[in-house]
Amino acid sequence: MSKVITPRSVDAARWYTDVVLRSELADYSPVKGCMVIRPLGYSLWERIQAGLDARFKETGHQNAYFPLFIPESFLHKEQAHVEGFSPELAVVTIGGGKELEEKLVVRPTSETIMYSMFAKWIRSYRDLPLLWNQWSNVVRWEMRTRLFLRTTEFLWQEGHTAHATDEEAEAETLKILDLYYEFAHRQMAVPVLKGLKSEQEKFAGAVRTYCIEALMQDGKALQAGTSHNLGQNFSKAFEVKFQNREGGTDYVWQTSWGASTRLIGALVLGHADDAGLILPPALAPIQVVLVPIWKTEEEKTAVREVIEKMQRFLGSRVRIHFDLREELSPGFKFNEWELKGVPLRLEMGPRDLAKSQVTVVHRLDRKKEAVPIDGLESSLPRLLEEFQDRLYQRALKFRNDNTRPAGTYAEFKEQIELGGFFEAFWCTNPECERKIKEETKATIRCIPLEGQDREGTCLFCGSVSRTLVILARAY
Ligand SMILES: [Zn+2]
Repeated sequence: MSKVITPRSVDAARWYTDVVLRSELADYSPVKGCMVIRPLGYSLWERIQAGLDARFKETGHQNAYFPLFIPESFLHKEQAHVEGFSPELAVVTIGGGKELEEKLVVRPTSETIMYSMFAKWIRSYRDLPLLWNQWSNVVRWEMRTRLFLRTTEFLWQEGHTAHATDEEAEAETLKILDLYYEFAHRQMAVPVLKGLKSEQEKFAGAVRTYCIEALMQDGKALQAGTSHNLGQNFSKAFEVKFQNREGGTDYVWQTSWGASTRLIGALVLGHADDAGLILPPALAPIQVVLVPIWKTEEEKTAVREVIEKMQRFLGSRVRIHFDLREELSPGFKFNEWELKGVPLRLEMGPRDLAKSQVTVVHRLDRKKEAVPIDGLESSLPRLLEEFQDRLYQRALKFRNDNTRPAGTYAEFKEQIELGGFFEAFWCTNPECERKIKEETKATIRCIPLEGQDREGTCLFCGSVSRTLVILARAY
C-alpha cells in the first residue's frame, strides 16, 4: 500500500497530497477548493479542538456562536479589514428566490458581526474583560488550494476579547500566543517560533499580529496560529464603548486569535514519511494497534483468549485497537496502520505467546522490542510518552539543523533554494521586505520574540539594524 505514495524526494507536493488522500484524512469535494474531512482527519480535529478548548476554558474563556452571514456593510466599517478580505469574500445576493436588500457575506472571520453585538452588551468596566471563543467554519475564496493548508472553507476557532486597557489586551494577546505555543510543542510535537508579524504581513485591521511559525520537513515555513492585538481599531468602528472606573467613556481594547484545520496539515508536513502519517500519541485517535498472527485454529484460539484479557485491562489505559480482520494478511495490516500513522504496533503470534510477550514496533523508525504482556498497562503509556518525546526531538533537531544565518544577500538568494529558516537583520523598511519577497519568494515569517539583543545590517540595503527576523518560503 505504501507504494501508492510518491516519495517525498521525488515530488514533495505529490507526496503530501498522496499521504492525505491515501491515509484517508480528507478528500477533494465536488465543490472546487473545498475538502471533505474523513473520519480519521475529523477525529484528529476533535482531539485538537478538545486540547485547545480545555486550555481556553482554563484561562477563563467561554464559547459562543454567531451567524454564518454578515451584512456586507459591516465589513466596510473598518477600512483595513475590508481591504484585506474583499478579494476573498463569498457573497449571498439571493435568499428565498428574492434579491436581498443588503448583500450578505459568508463569514471570512467574525470580528465585525461579533463586535456589533459587543457594542450592545458592553456598558461598563464591570462587563470587562469579555473573553469569548467560537468554534466554526469560515469561507475565503482561495484561487490555489491544497488540502488542509489552504481551502475555500475551513474549520477553526476564533477567540475575541474586549478589555478595559491597552495593557490588558496586550497581555491577553501574548497569553494566547503562549497557549498556542505550548499546545504545538506538547500535543502536536511540532516546535514553533513565537514572533511578531511585520506590518505587511499582519492581520487586516490589527495593531500587532503575533504568530507561531513551524518549519516543515520540506524546508518551508507554516504559520500555525495567530494572535492579534486589535487596539481600538474595531471598537471605534463599531462603537464598542464602556463607562470606565472614573465615570468617563472609553472605547474597549480588543484581541482576536485563531487556529484552524491547517494544524492537521502541519502534522502531516512535520512528521509523516514515505510510508504515510506519523501521529503524535497525544493526538492519535488510535495510539496502539494490535495485529495478531496465527496459522492454525489452535493458535488462533490461544491468541484470541489473550486478546480478550488484554481488551479488559488495556482499554481504559491507552487508545488501543485490535485488528481481528481475518480476510487480510498481517503484512497488509502492518502497511495500513503505518499509512494511518498509528504510533505503536503490537505483533502477537504463537512464538510471542509462548514467551508471554508482544513485539512492539515503533512507527517512527520501525524499531522492534519484545515487551512482557504482564505490565503492558504501565509499559505502553510509558512507551507512548517516549514516542511523543522522540517525535518532538526529531522535529526540533530538523529545525535546528535547518536554521542558518542568511549571510550576504547574494548568499541568501542561493541558500533559500535549499529551504529552511534564515536569520537576518532587517531595517524595518517595507520596501526592503517587498524586494526580498519579489526576488526570492521568501517572506519575513516573524520577528522572533527572543534573541533581539544584537545588532547587524539589513539583509537587503545594508543599513544598521537591531531587528532580527526569520525568513523562509512559506505555505
Ligand atoms: Zn533595509
